[in-house]
Amino acid sequence: MINFGYSIAQTRVVNLDNCNFDKLEQLEKIVPSFKRCMNCGACTATCSAQQFTGFNIRKIKSMYQQAQYDKLAKELEQCMLCGKCTLVCPRGVSLRPAVMNMRKILNTK
Ligand code: SF4
Ligand code: SF4
Repeated sequence: MINFGYSIAQTRVVNLDNCNFDKLEQLEKIVPSFKRCMNCGACTATCSAQQFTGFNIRKIKSMYQQAQYDKLAKELEQCMLCGKCTLVCPRGVSLRPAVMNMRKILNTK
């Protein structure tokens, strides 16, 4: 076989049929605005923690919505709970309360 010097990247497709959305439903009951996100990224662009770490609140939010919980609790510790993301969100998503409740839910066994 010819070696072209590159390989095909692993797929990052998430098979939602295999996911358990109990934790998402739990969060959406407490923070209903979480459903309104349109993934614009304004929260990440203004995030205080993002300026000092690799923290990406939009990515975290999407991972939570896709039930990808591995390492999420640890990542969420980087949020400084300053609330800027909530102030700039054009869809009025209450991200700060969402982060606080994600922390609680993910630490619940
Ligand atoms: S700013 Fe609001 S709508 Fe935009 S990605 Fe963040 S949470 Fe979603
Ligand atoms: S509350 Fe957390 S996620 Fe939102 S802007 Fe502040 S540090 Fe970033």
